[in-house]
Parts: sequence; structure tokens; C-alpha cells
Amino acid sequence: MGEYILTVCYLIASVTFILGLKMLSNPVTARKGNLVAATGMTIAILGTIFLYRDETGTNLHNLGWIFGGLFIGGVIGTLAAKKVKMTSMPEMVSLFNGMGGACAALISLVEFNHIANEILLTGISTGYTGKVLIIVLGLIIGSVSFAGSMIAWGKLNGSVKDFSFPGQNILNLLILAVALGAGAYLVINPGHPFLLYVILCLSLIYGIFFVMPIGGADMPVVISLLNSFTGVAAACGGFLYNNKVMLTGGILVGAAGTLLTILMCKAMNRSLLNVLIGSFGGNKTGATGGTTAQGGHYKEISLSDSAMLMSYANKVMIVPGYGLAVAQAQHICHELEKMLNDKGVEVKYAIHPVAGRMPGHMNVLLAEADVNYEKLLEMDDANDEFKTCDVVLILGANDVVNPAAKNDPASPIYGMPILEVELAKNVIVNKRSMKPGYAGIENDLFFRPKTSMLFGDAKKVLQDLVSEIKAI
Ligand code: NDP
Repeated sequence: MGEYILTVCYLIASVTFILGLKMLSNPVTARKGNLVAATGMTIAILGTIFLYRDETGTNLHNLGWIFGGLFIGGVIGTLAAKKVKMTSMPEMVSLFNGMGGACAALISLVEFNHIANEILLTGISTGYTGKVLIIVLGLIIGSVSFAGSMIAWGKLNGSVKDFSFPGQNILNLLILAVALGAGAYLVINPGHPFLLYVILCLSLIYGIFFVMPIGGADMPVVISLLNSFTGVAAACGGFLYNNKVMLTGGILVGAAGTLLTILMCKAMNRSLLNVLIGSFGGNKTGATGGTTAQGGHYKEISLSDSAMLMSYANKVMIVPGYGLAVAQAQHICHELEKMLNDKGVEVKYAIHPVAGRMPGHMNVLLAEADVNYEKLLEMDDANDEFKTCDVVLILGANDVVNPAAKNDPASPIYGMPILEVELAKNVIVNKRSMKPGYAGIENDLFFRPKTSMLFGDAKKVLQDLVSEIKAI
């Protein structure tokens, strides 16, 4: 009976994962989607703990350890999620993703240990091919994901710097080939447990070398790719235990991560192969960036002139970026939008797919402030509309509007599609200084004739703009 209830629990959990994922695709339903999937996961975990029976009919023991682990992990996860700033979310995603990879690798180590003990006892090393294949795959993918995610985490919080050396790609491929070769040997001859630890070390080294050289604008693609690795590694665990919910969850994460990777690659104009062999397009050691301002002059605009320009415009396009998230200026930005609407000005938002520090960052931020989702334009649609705009107001965005991506082949972000704000009549850029953005390169846009700089913290500037517009 318990077995059937457990199957139903897994079925419910699998359905909630799919529904939850679907609901995550829209900011309006995203929170609910998260809850739905989390409820399914809780059902699956509790079902496993209380209803699972092995072939001998024995249920899970060590409940103290299991609930102790759940409690400690739950407390750490809850506190971390409550404390984390929205702008540090990618770091946390990386860290948690790494933990998923580590779990998958640990499962492989533990399960191989069982097989090694059986072989020792019986002296028979045949009949394990399928199981060892899954174990080796889970170990390699999980370890690469763990090591790579830890480096990505360090890079995002600034504690790990970009590092590369000549021939690194070839060495990377060589390490991977040796790990795969050792894995293939182990699958055929499972009686050599030490090989598993060789594979573990090589996979960890590969994970480190794979992410080390990647920097600047390319990080989102890597994080998303590592996320899909963790999903596949978890699916290996599902195969191993014949656990359908683990398999479904892993495959969903793997597929969603892969799709996101492909979308991000497209958004940043990188090929997937380029990502897979690592060491691409980032801020390599010593790279200084290619754009120059030719010592150019930038012009500033006052608050009152900006307010005037926008109040008498027909159409204003707002380009939000990382700085808007830092300043937590989304609510006041929405207020500005409403105020301009009241004056008969059409206001829309241009959303670049990698604006901010995580996929969908700007959508989440603006949804939090109740900005109508219909007003958010994706990059291609926004680029079609800029020519009809009187004013583009850039709020804390930099790399995503940098023309060097289009016209400077020496630039590290060359090839990344950008928001073509210069098609509008006037461009107002709000940031605090002339400092570069995430990719660490200068932005020629700030020196162009159509551009005016409006310096200051985004929240303060928007508050002042709202007051000015009120007074007009
Ligand atoms: P950028 O990081 O290029 O620029 C942000 C700008 O905001 C800075 O130049 C900064 O200038 C300004 N700023 C910071 N704080 C404030 C503030 N309080 N008020 C006003 N301005 C402020 O951001 P973009 O959104 O244009 O581009 C995102 C970058 O991040 C891309 O390179 C992308 O590849 C990368 N990335 C994206 C991820 C994603 O998934 N979306 C993940 C990881 C990286 P100043 O200091 O002068 O104020």
C-alpha cells in the first residue's frame, strides 16, 4: 500500500514541478509557481522518508540524521535567501547550484563504494556496467558543476580573478578526455575503485579550469550552463535509484538550463561550442577593453531640463540596468512613469536579456513595483521602437547600451547585441560617475552628441525628477 502512495506522491511532485516551471515564465505567477514546486518537493521528500521500502521491505532508518540534515540545511537556506540582496542573487544561485552538483558527485561516490564492497565480497566484477556508467557520468558532471560553480561564485563576489594561460583550451580538453577515458575503463573493469578518485580529481580540475578564464559579460551563460549540468547529474541519481521524481526534476532542470543557455548565447551572440571549450570573450588578465572615449567630452543635463524634456515628449523609453537594482529605485521609477502618463506621454521599458546580474533581473525588479508587464519590450522590439522615441532615459545601465559591442572588434563585448538607444532623438544617462559597468570597459555612448549625463544615485535622481515634473 505504502509503495502505491509513494508512487502517487512522486506523480504529484512531478506534476507540480512542471506546473511550477510553467508559472515561473510569467512574473505575475512566478511566486506561486515557486511555492507550487516547493510543495511538490516537500511531498516527495516526506513520502520518501516515511514510505520508501527497499527490496527486503526495510524502511529508511537514521531518521535523526536525516531530519538533523534537513533542519540545518533548511535554516541555512532560509536565512541566506532572506538576507541576500537582489543584486547578489546570481552568486547565491551559483553557490546553491554547486551544492546540487556536489550532492550528485557524493551519491556516485557512495553508490560505487557499495559496488566495490560487493565485488570484494563475491569476487565477481561482471553485471555492473549500466550502474557504473551512470555513477561515472553523475560523478564527472556533478564534480564539474560543483567546482565550476564555486569558481563562478568567487568571481561574482570578486574574490576570484580571471586567469588563463596559452594552450588552456587544449589542456582542458585533454583533462576531460583522460577523465572520460578513465571512466570508460572503470565501466568495463569496475574492480579498480581508485580510478573513481582519479576521475573525481580530474573532473574538479576541469571544472576550475573551465570557468577560470571566463569573465565579464559572459558569466551569465556559464552559470546557466552549470545549472543544466547539475540537472543532468541529478537525473543520473534518478536512474541510479530508479527514482522517478528525481529523474523528472533532474531532466527538467537540465532541459530548462540548456534552453536558457541557448537563449543567453543568442542574446550575447556566442556559440554554444565556444562556451563548452571555455576561455571565451571575457575580461582576460591584462585585457583593458577596446573602446576609447578619445579623451572626449561629455555633456551634463540638469534635473529641470531633463524633467522638461520628458514632460513635453510624446514617447519616452526607459532602459533599466544594474544600477536601478542597486539603488532599489524601481518603485519611484514606476511613479515617474505614471506621472508622465498623466501628462499624456507614452512610456515603455526596453529590457536587455542580460541587464542586471541575473536572467530576468529587470523583469523581476519592475514586476515588484507593479509595472504593467505589457510595457516591457524585449530587445528586438525595443530596437524597432527607439526611432519613434523623443527621449531614452537610461537608469544605471552601461554594458547593454555600449556601442563598442557593435563597432569595436577589439572590445571584449564585441558581438553582443545591444539596445540601440541612439536611434532616439535624445539620450539621458543616469549613473553616479563615469566609471565602467560589469565588463570593465569604457562606453563611447556617453560622449556622443545626442547623449547627456544626469549624475547621481538612481533613486535620488528619480525622486527629484518626480518633484520637478510635478511642479511643471
Ligand atoms: P552594468 O554593470 O554594465 O552597469 C551598471 C551601471 O550602473 C554602472 O556603470 C554604474 O555606474 C551604475 N550604477 C551603479 N549603482 C548605481 C546607482 N545607485 N545609481 C545609478 N547608477 C548606478 O549593467 P548593465 O545592466 O548595463 O549590464 C549588465 C552586465 O552584467 C552585463 O555585462 C552582463 O553581461 C553582466 N551580467 C549579467 C548577468 C545576467 O544574467 N543579467 C549575470 C552576470 C553578469 P556608476 O558606478 O558610475 O554609478
